[in-house]
Amino acid sequence: IRSKIVKFEKMEVVSQLAASISHEVRNPLTVVKGFMELLKSPNLSLDEKKRYIEHIERELHNAESIISDYLAFAKPAIEKVEPLLIEQEIRNVIDIMKPLAKMSSVTITDNLGQGTVQGNKNYFRQCFLNLIKNAIEAMPNGGELQIVSALEKNKVTVKIVDTGVGMSKEQINRFGEPYYTSKTKGTGLGSMVAVKTIQTMNGKLDIDSILNVGTTITITLPAFITEYKMVQKDSQLKLETEF
Ligand code: ADP
Ligand code: MG
Repeated sequence: IRSKIVKFEKMEVVSQLAASISHEVRNPLTVVKGFMELLKSPNLSLDEKKRYIEHIERELHNAESIISDYLAFAKPAIEKVEPLLIEQEIRNVIDIMKPLAKMSSVTITDNLGQGTVQGNKNYFRQCFLNLIKNAIEAMPNGGELQIVSALEKNKVTVKIVDTGVGMSKEQINRFGEPYYTSKTKGTGLGSMVAVKTIQTMNGKLDIDSILNVGTTITITLPAFITEYKMVQKDSQLKLETEF
């Protein structure tokens, strides 16, 4: 099945994400505290101890995943919006993801063209980190990840192409929905952060996917105008922009 989505209605601004992070992390920590208390009880069998410790490990892992899907690049009180060089920012994220790709025998190829967009650097990086992480996670037995960016007229496009498991109609429709995950250790938050970031930047995100073949995520963002000049056209003076 091949499908596309563009659904950004009723999405709050990305800055509100930070407000819910403490809530999200508190749940697993509360569970950890509970099991720590249980561990203190006398006469526990080795088997019980082992099970409680496994629960604790699972919940701590969960808390860590939530933080990495939300706040991998977070710095306190930074909501600055600035011009971002696509090539540089995406390269940065690719470098960060290289160890994970290597662990899953995923080879990464890129073709990054120049282009500038306007946005918050931390959220931008978090967005692409989450999308690239999903692509790698879709290829547990190896595959190819291709990342291509291009500047066309006044738009910058970034394509993330994987040769992974692909997505069903339901997975495509629920992409971006908080807590929706098909993974045993997933948070279902990565795609929400990505969708909200793109929405905040007035862009769009399309999904093309074929089950057992792979997924292509296409992000389109308005290019940041870097130059303009006055030109004479049809005996009128006009402002011409270069992107
Ligand atoms: P998580 O990765 O924690 O499961 P996300 O919000 O990042 O949560 O993704 C939500 C779901 O979207 C995933 O569980 C998966 O089903 C699907 N998904 C996202 N990206 C891809 C992809 N590249 N290939 C296959 N499925 C994907
Ligand atoms: Mg994810």
